[in-house]
Amino acid sequence: MDAVQSDVLVLGGGVIGLTCALALLHRGASVRVLERAEPGAGASHGNCGTLTPSHAIPLTLPGMPWKALRWMLHRDAPLYVNPKPDWARWRWLLGFARRCDLALAERAAIARAALLQRSAALLPQVLTAEGIECEYSATGTLYVYHDGRTLANDRREIGWLTRLGVAAEALRGDQVEAMEPALLPGVAGGILHPDDAQLRPDRLVDGLARRVRECGGVIEIGAAVDGFRCAGNRVAAVVTAHGEFAGERVLLALGAWTPGVARQLGLKVPIQPGKGYSITTSRPAPCPRRALVLREPSVCVTAWGSGYRLGSTMEFSGYDARLNRTRLDALRRGAAAYLKAPFGAELKEEWWGWRPMCVDEKPLIGPSSRWRNLVLATGHGMLGVSMSAATAELVAALVAGDRPVLDPAPYAPARFGL
Ligand SMILES: Cc1cc2nc3c(=O)[nH]c(=O)nc-3n(C[C@H](O)[C@H](O)[C@H](O)COP(=O)(O)OP(=O)(O)OC[C@H]3O[C@@H](n4cnc5c(N)ncnc54)[C@H](O)[C@@H]3O)c2cc1C
Repeated sequence: MDAVQSDVLVLGGGVIGLTCALALLHRGASVRVLERAEPGAGASHGNCGTLTPSHAIPLTLPGMPWKALRWMLHRDAPLYVNPKPDWARWRWLLGFARRCDLALAERAAIARAALLQRSAALLPQVLTAEGIECEYSATGTLYVYHDGRTLANDRREIGWLTRLGVAAEALRGDQVEAMEPALLPGVAGGILHPDDAQLRPDRLVDGLARRVRECGGVIEIGAAVDGFRCAGNRVAAVVTAHGEFAGERVLLALGAWTPGVARQLGLKVPIQPGKGYSITTSRPAPCPRRALVLREPSVCVTAWGSGYRLGSTMEFSGYDARLNRTRLDALRRGAAAYLKAPFGAELKEEWWGWRPMCVDEKPLIGPSSRWRNLVLATGHGMLGVSMSAATAELVAALVAGDRPVLDPAPYAPARFGL
């Protein structure tokens, strides 16, 4: 039987696959999304939903490998690396450690800031134009500190962020407590990032999936990509349990699952799953007015009209699909040290997700240098929601052969020979 044909086959129905699908549909392409489970079944479901140009500075900073080694000794530290032997994980970690260099981090920060700022400008326009209601609000992010040393350290990054065009304002402890009556006393200070925003990520994904269908796109639910048929240097067909599908272009947007699938095309994608957790409850009283980052335990707090979430932690333990109670308890403990009412009365969901962590802290966006009709949009790490709209704009322009608004060079998969 002939493979079902589309202009663009999108592999993966997370926030990246769906925003790209919608942008491509608006350019007149026929689009089919192949999704293993259902839209938003991966990291795009229970994340914190913050939109953060404030995260432009990458994790690949000098000193980070030593910090990570110290944290390895504590199972409830904000970052945990499972020390068990796993060649792929250790190769990735060594690659990451090699990139912990100031000059490289400065280049990565410029590339990340460009994508984050463009996305921050585009996303509210997309939500309005598409009629997607996902509790978007541009109320900024407030970092809250108990420890003066951590605060002093982070304040040094304000100048760097300002040079990148990201607003950041240092606040005294009493100013932070006055801004956020939900906080317990004892705040040493804060940093406000007024350009950040927040939304409810599961509602974003639902809205995107609805609009993809309304615009004529097809989402094949339960169509796990099992393999490929190749002809010369083209991907001729994608093989799934639902049959074979072909595309003039094939967009690989499988988040943390990208390496396993791409290996079947001979591509070694330098992504590891960075597992994170979240707890969703009803709104507590008093409830924070804006997104908070409780800095020492690294807990992100997001409150929407419809609920409240504690999230974060970063665990490198491969594709381990268990819900780790220690990590969830660390979120609860972290919140209890800072907030008068750390969670709401009704528990709605305990969740984990795999962030697609690219070894150089920049996403992989653009054509494959190996396969003529393959395009990648993956590896967004901690920032997939924040970078989604600009990623989609870039992918749609590259597929159409137009000159993109952003310079695509820093994100090119060719930097890893992909
Ligand atoms: C705790 C936590 C908090 C976070 N907070 C934020 C935040 O505040 N702001 C932010 O910007 N980002 C945040 N992130 C990161 C963000 O969630 C991710 O960067 C983003 O969701 C990645 O989107 P994606 O579409 O690339 O991947 P995913 O959402 O994981 O989508 C990949 C999709 O591919 C599907 N798939 C997998 N294998 C196959 C296959 N073989 N065939 C077909 N389909 C397949 C999966 O089912 C999934 O739906 C957070 C992440 C976590 C874990």
